[in-house]
Amino acid sequence: MLAQDRHEALYCPGGCGRRSCEDPKKPQRRGEQLKTFLSHNKEETIAFGELIGKAAPGGSVIAFRGDLGAGKTTLSKGIAQGLGIDEEVTSPTYTIVSEYRGRLALYHIDAYRLAGESDFAEIGGYDMLESAGSLCLIEWSERLPGIVNDSTAIIDIRVEHGDERRLSLSGAWLEALLP
Ligand code: ADP
Ligand code: MG
Repeated sequence: MLAQDRHEALYCPGGCGRRSCEDPKKPQRRGEQLKTFLSHNKEETIAFGELIGKAAPGGSVIAFRGDLGAGKTTLSKGIAQGLGIDEEVTSPTYTIVSEYRGRLALYHIDAYRLAGESDFAEIGGYDMLESAGSLCLIEWSERLPGIVNDSTAIIDIRVEHGDERRLSLSGAWLEALLP
């Protein structure tokens, strides 16, 4: 299966996680997102990020989806605050990975300049994903469709209008943060 095929499979309209659904009774998890959070401004996104940072279990991975300017880095700043990280979190576009120490180790990864999963493996990405006492945030995860599995949380951020952003969440511990 080509990486691109896997990427499309995640957007199965039935939400079953596959392009051609083999088990229609399987609970819906991907595609049609179950829970959404509407943020009206940057501050609300940061505050929601703080909640995520406080709740994240060790060993969690959050794959972000969304265009440039959607708010992935802004949300990451809030998540870092929630983990008790005082250091300023900046976009890892050029460094590819930034590491911070808080309640959990935070690996903030930007896949924009990675060609794909083999580049990710070269920078030690899989070790970060598998590290038990850490939280991995991956911006531009669309570029690494092969790293997403059933335990990966996903946050898709869409610009609505003006400063409004719709955050669609997938993953049990994340969804539990919303009513
Ligand atoms: P990305 O990492 O997705 O490219 P950034 O977080 O770097 O996006 O940038 C988002 C931009 O949008 C920032 O300039 C931020 O101030 C602005 N913004 C406006 N409204 C919001 C909002 N509701 N949530 C997050 N960012 C917002
Ligand atoms: Mg960013």
